[in-house]
Amino acid sequence: MSTTTEPVAAEKVVKEYKGGCHCKKFQFEFTHEALDTSPVISCNCTICNQRGYLLIFVPAADFKPTEGSLDDLSKYEFGKKHLVHRFCSNCGCGVLCTGAGTVAVNARAIEGLDTDKLTLKHYDGLSL
Ligand SMILES: [Zn+2]
Repeated sequence: MSTTTEPVAAEKVVKEYKGGCHCKKFQFEFTHEALDTSPVISCNCTICNQRGYLLIFVPAADFKPTEGSLDDLSKYEFGKKHLVHRFCSNCGCGVLCTGAGTVAVNARAIEGLDTDKLTLKHYDGLSL
C-alpha cells in the first residue's frame, strides 16, 4: 500500500500575544498568525499617521481583555466612523480600535514586540 503524501502548504504558525496600555489599567491577549510571517497595516489616514498606529486586525472572538474592559477605554470616532478608536484615559495610549466583529490592535501596544522587525503593508486610508 502506498502512503498518501499531504501537499506541502506554507505552515501558518499561530501565536499568542499580550499587551496593554502604558499604565497597565487595560491589558489584553489575543491569538494571531505569527507576526514574523504576517504583515501589519501601516495606514496613512489622519489618525493612524498622527498616533503612529500599526494595526493588526483580529476577529473579536480571538481577542480577550485580561485587565479592564473595552468600555473602560475612552472612545474617539471621526469621519465615516468605521472604527471606534479606544485609548486609556489615564496614560493616553491608543491601544486598539473596534469595528464590526473585529478588533484592530495597535502593534505598538504589544509586549516585547520589536516593531522594527515587522513587515508593513501600506494601506491608503487617507483616500477613503
Ligand atoms: Zn493606561
